[in-house]
Amino acid sequence: MASSEILPVLLRQLRLSTMAQLWEPFLTRAEEERWSSTQYLSALCEQELNERHSRRIARYTKESRLPVGKTLATFDFSQTQTIRRERIDALAQNSDWVKRAENLLFFGPSGVGKTHLAAAISHSLIEQSIRVRHFTTTALVQKMQQARADLQIEKFLGKLDKYSVIVLDDLGYVKKTDAETHVLFELIAHRYETGSIIITSNQPFGEWDKIFADPSMTVAAIDRVVHHATIIEIQAESYRKRQAISNNINTSFGQKASPKSMTAMIKR
Ligand code: ADP
Ligand code: MG
Repeated sequence: MASSEILPVLLRQLRLSTMAQLWEPFLTRAEEERWSSTQYLSALCEQELNERHSRRIARYTKESRLPVGKTLATFDFSQTQTIRRERIDALAQNSDWVKRAENLLFFGPSGVGKTHLAAAISHSLIEQSIRVRHFTTTALVQKMQQARADLQIEKFLGKLDKYSVIVLDDLGYVKKTDAETHVLFELIAHRYETGSIIITSNQPFGEWDKIFADPSMTVAAIDRVVHHATIIEIQAESYRKRQAISNNINTSFGQKASPKSMTAMIKR
């Protein structure tokens, strides 16, 4: 039987770094508290798994490029009547829709929390070891165009396959040129029924012909996106705008902000 000196070497060779770190302190505890050998081994394995889980979540969070701090904990549901908390919680906590490669769409005017909610749900999915990658749609379109120019578009799309969820933030801001929107369509077609897409857009479907080059491409894109999808429409006043107004009120030392000054603020 191998001597105890060789144990840390064996554990490191097996890439059980947490167990290699903890086997000794845990042994002391096990002796003091009279753990059985099974209890001792289970405790070590548990620590190894916990540590691996935390490292994986940290890795997935970093690679996702999601906006930091935009979580469900920081989203104030009392600010928006049109968003049902249970609906958002269900999408965040039950990832079956991702396993079914379904999509999630947020529509609504600017500043109502579309990006925040997309990120919050994504952060929850990452906690469940689901890989997510967030993109500003215009930036992704540029990357895809470059890949296409380098004859690498298939490879590029293939690389995105490792993410179960791709966030296309601000789809409505993509400028319509044949080349740009064609790559966007390619992405949508590529992920159809194989990987989820979360889209945020200030443009409802009726306006998507402004995004895609021709009507048949628009129809084909919408068809694929909505075939298996949850659509959430947010009708509210911009949170940013309301924050700005309330800050203005709070900083005016109790003086009521006049409607005139509020309008000036909003316009700024
Ligand atoms: P959109 O993507 O719809 O334009 P954002 O998600 O970027 O809007 O929201 C604008 C800003 O307001 C962000 O800083 C976001 O965190 C914040 N915000 C929006 N709605 C809420 C809310 N209900 N609770 C907390 N913060 C919010
Ligand atoms: Mg946004």
